[in-house]
Amino acid sequence: MTSRDGYQWTPEIGLAQGVPSIGVISPSTNLTSGSGPWDVIVVGAGYSGLTATRDLCVAGLRVLLVEARDRIGGRSWSSNIGGYPFEMGGTWVHWGQPHVWREISRYQMRSELEESFDFSRGVNHFQLRANNGDAIMSHEEEDALLSGALEKFVNIDGDMGRKTFSFAHDPFHVAEARKYDDMSAKDRLQEISLSLTPNERSVLESFILLCSCGTLETTSFFEFLHWWALCGYSYRGCMDHLISYKFKGGQSSFAIKFFQEALSTGNLSYVFNTPVESITDQGDTVALISRDGRQYVATRLVSTIPLNVLNSVSFSPPLDAQRASATNIGHVNQCVKVHAEISNKDMRSWTGISYPFNKLTYAIGDGTTPAGNTHIVCFGGFNNHIQPEENIDETKKAVENLAPGNMDIQRLVFHNWSKDEFAKGAWFFSPPQLLSTSLDALRARHGNIVFANSDWAVGWRSFIDGAIEEGTRAAMTVKEELRPSVAPRPHL
Ligand code: FAD
Repeated sequence: MTSRDGYQWTPEIGLAQGVPSIGVISPSTNLTSGSGPWDVIVVGAGYSGLTATRDLCVAGLRVLLVEARDRIGGRSWSSNIGGYPFEMGGTWVHWGQPHVWREISRYQMRSELEESFDFSRGVNHFQLRANNGDAIMSHEEEDALLSGALEKFVNIDGDMGRKTFSFAHDPFHVAEARKYDDMSAKDRLQEISLSLTPNERSVLESFILLCSCGTLETTSFFEFLHWWALCGYSYRGCMDHLISYKFKGGQSSFAIKFFQEALSTGNLSYVFNTPVESITDQGDTVALISRDGRQYVATRLVSTIPLNVLNSVSFSPPLDAQRASATNIGHVNQCVKVHAEISNKDMRSWTGISYPFNKLTYAIGDGTTPAGNTHIVCFGGFNNHIQPEENIDETKKAVENLAPGNMDIQRLVFHNWSKDEFAKGAWFFSPPQLLSTSLDALRARHGNIVFANSDWAVGWRSFIDGAIEEGTRAAMTVKEELRPSVAPRPHL
């Protein structure tokens, strides 16, 4: 099936909107005249919504899943072109991410993972293109350069942030950590600028911007330190957790397992292609009205609508002032992720940074396509933004600029997350002061409405893991209220 989402460009066809994906749900609903009543409505079929839906269905509750798109997965989905998955959003997972790993174990998908990097053949180098010139380095030199620069950036306490961010899944555990949320990445760079070589500065800035996809001014230093702590306080840990292991069959091959398990309980009704317009808490029930005027009612509602688009839905009673303000500020991540299929097989072992002049700044060899071509995945962000489908020649030029002469483009594949009306951005990355003022408010319930999204998880916030953390939390909350568990017997 082909989703409306995503774009593909080839020299033969030019630019086309919509790409095939196994995450498309067809027919788009299983509702019949006899469907309902429902215990719970879940809005959104990303990992938060899929986890909540599955857990509630398995617990015996009747669930209606309402999704605006034609597919599952939200910000994590893969297009499947000629049998090869291009990851349009969330991609990499790791066993150090506890919630996602529990699910990989549940669905016995451990052997479905593969590594993105393959330094066994080909050019096997790192290419740095910066204001102070071009350089080719070994991957060992790349690691040493990035590692040294990052350690200067994060070393706030003489112990690489360990003392201040001692508990990565409760980042405000040490009160002093809060002050770093008043600082931007730019503020911190100013503090250490005299200690950085020009190459260190280039790779450090591009790595920070790879994480936030905002600008240095809008990137919270606190949130960067939180990522650093999650990754075990090392550059190697960052590479392992953030960009190494992906599903051979793509993210949609994982997401579909949640959906299928929920469906197998017989407790799931679903309706796709249904953007929600308003949600009203009526005291003992919650009513949802879709954009095309359909109304659905349940005892509880789990909203997994992301931060940057929460203000496009009308809530009654209105959202509290702190949540509303946080929603209006939003997160800063406007990632541009472009896949390029290129004919040069030797580029499989290539990595590169092209910064600050280029519109795509960080890229790696990510796979070999069925045609035997190299798959390069490229990242840019708000710092030097493009809308890739608006000017495909500019997009191709940005790919070519990463390694001039070596990028013979056969295909481009991408999703424009900035213009996506159900996301308005990529993974959550906080501007200064948003988390310290609003995280608790974002996590709070609103009467019979429970909010769950990776954007306000406490652990791997911004990641698939955080979405599963949140979906689990929402399902537990609702389950405890609607299906109070039998008190355990005092003895057997
Ligand atoms: P979402 O996936 O956003 O789900 C919310 C759902 O709500 C969506 O399906 C949306 O369509 C729906 N919705 C929104 N508004 C409405 C409405 N009005 N009516 C009905 N439905 C609505 N994470 C990783 O762990 N590893 C990575 O490598 C990684 N890379 C990423 C790269 C990119 C380019 C992007 C975009 C994200 C990446 N992430 C990564 C982050 C990860 O994808 C997200 O954190 C996670 O998928 C969020 O899941 P969620 O369910 O919380 O939210």
